[in-house]
Amino acid sequence: MTIFHSRAPFVAPPDDLSIPQFILDEVNHATRPHRADHIPCFIEEESGKALFLSELRERSHRLAKTLKGRWGIGPNDVVSLYAPNHVDYGVIIWAVHRLGGIISAHSGALTTEELEYQLRIAEPVLLVAHPENLTVALDAMKKVGLAQERLVLLDGNLAPEAPFPSVDTLIESHSQYPEYTEHKLKAGEAKNAIAFFCYSSGTTGPPKAVAVSHYNVIASVVQVSTFNRIHEEYLPWENRRFRPGDVCAGVLPLYHVYGLVVSIHLVIYGAVSVVIGRRFNYENLLKSIERYRITHLMIVPPQAVLFCKHPLTKKFDLSSIRYCIVAAAPLSAELTLQLQQLFPGVQIGQGYGLTETCSGVSQFPIDQLVGTLGSSGQLIPGTTAKVVKPDGTLAGVGEPGELYLKGPQVMLGYYRNEEANKEVFADGWLRTGDEVVFQANGDLFVTDRIKELIKVKGHQVSPSELEGHLLNHPDVADAAVIGVPDDYAGEVPLAFVVLKPPLATKVREDAELAGDVRDRIDKHVSAVTSRYKWLEGGIEFVDAIPKSASGKILRGILTQRGRQVQRKA
Ligand code: AMP
Repeated sequence: MTIFHSRAPFVAPPDDLSIPQFILDEVNHATRPHRADHIPCFIEEESGKALFLSELRERSHRLAKTLKGRWGIGPNDVVSLYAPNHVDYGVIIWAVHRLGGIISAHSGALTTEELEYQLRIAEPVLLVAHPENLTVALDAMKKVGLAQERLVLLDGNLAPEAPFPSVDTLIESHSQYPEYTEHKLKAGEAKNAIAFFCYSSGTTGPPKAVAVSHYNVIASVVQVSTFNRIHEEYLPWENRRFRPGDVCAGVLPLYHVYGLVVSIHLVIYGAVSVVIGRRFNYENLLKSIERYRITHLMIVPPQAVLFCKHPLTKKFDLSSIRYCIVAAAPLSAELTLQLQQLFPGVQIGQGYGLTETCSGVSQFPIDQLVGTLGSSGQLIPGTTAKVVKPDGTLAGVGEPGELYLKGPQVMLGYYRNEEANKEVFADGWLRTGDEVVFQANGDLFVTDRIKELIKVKGHQVSPSELEGHLLNHPDVADAAVIGVPDDYAGEVPLAFVVLKPPLATKVREDAELAGDVRDRIDKHVSAVTSRYKWLEGGIEFVDAIPKSASGKILRGILTQRGRQVQRKA
């Protein structure tokens, strides 16, 4: 029976601390490598404003005091955070955690319909929104019956006229409220206390709230840190991947668990700084690399494409870069080689993970300067894997099958969704829905995606969510959505649509009408979904959607048809 283990040992962190207690306060703990109050934690990209550890501690306590005093926020209350990247993202998270509450992290790109859907699952008692998201936030709050008095603005100075308190004013007004008692966890409790809801469609169906525990995040930080040898003091200084004073580019979306763990928590634990801009802009990133002497890039494949192909790249001094990890979707061997050419001598490789594993599963290890070509790295400490072949038996080295995982980073489960939990957990193992192969040296290769998920620029797109929107259109009788390859985005969604009878016949005979109907359906989907979910792969009219006897969409057949559609185009 082949079970694959990480090669590096896991140094188990304490299980009685909340995330802010571990990350911000517990500076003397044995697993904590450095005390670095003088190093900025977050730097605002545009202004250069820096936030230090002591300020983060103070701001999170003061905000917690006001949240408690003004709204009575307490254990298990959910606070929704609906915003683009911002230097105060962490402060809001930790204030809520200090009260025992849960943060529901929503992409700032969500439409009213998408936000409403997530709010109905999370049932927040308060919503923190960026001014640019104000209209959508208020619409969605109204739909779910959350009163306007429950809205806080993240960057109030951008909307001085808006009649809502801001994070800054709440922090300033802390003295009006009585002292509060920080929520403490008993031994083992961090493993079950929910810290975050992050949204993922998993192996099938619409998006679900992934319940991430305090320990999941703390363990993830320690796992990745051990693999990067942050806390092995004997390792020669120059060989460590993260050194106090290093500067990371904070271009990952912070609502996604990859950004949450790496750009908010790992950086503080490793005493490195992160430069945070509101949203990704390639030119701004290049400027920041020069201005802040950025050393670490944690990016997704489309950003790697920009580095390799965009004419602006050559105009900037990128010599400060020492480390570049690409994750969230596959990175082709061709692109990896181009990155290596662009950044000679830089540590370059892939990471692989899921929202359900609180980001990391595997990563290129410290003893590889550059990761094995095409590999997603090796299991991070504390992670155990098995590979299950289609016949249910276990695969050995070199054999493909579905990856199943165990480890301290594996989620608690989908919140209030027993059916989905039954599907995703099997005897305590998490099913990833990814096909992989392990090599004898521990290198993991993701060879295919078995699950329904489409990944556009590293973002999740759930086919069943888009199919739901298509089926809502009055002209549509049936629909199925698949991902088709795209050089920049990785994949884009393509819809197969069966029109209702009289229209279906007319459209077959009238190309102009077909174009109009396609346009109407396209607009219908775009109106209710985030930009990256739009049907950029096109809309194909078909007579029927291929289905199994039990009514399941036969996506394999559609994938082949998708290739034909792409060749035609
Ligand atoms: P998410 O939950 O959004 O992080 O998406 C997780 C999924 O992204 C995984 O199950 C994989 O299908 C895919 N993925 C993440 N990293 C990689 C990688 N390095 N190579 C291939 N697929 C990846």
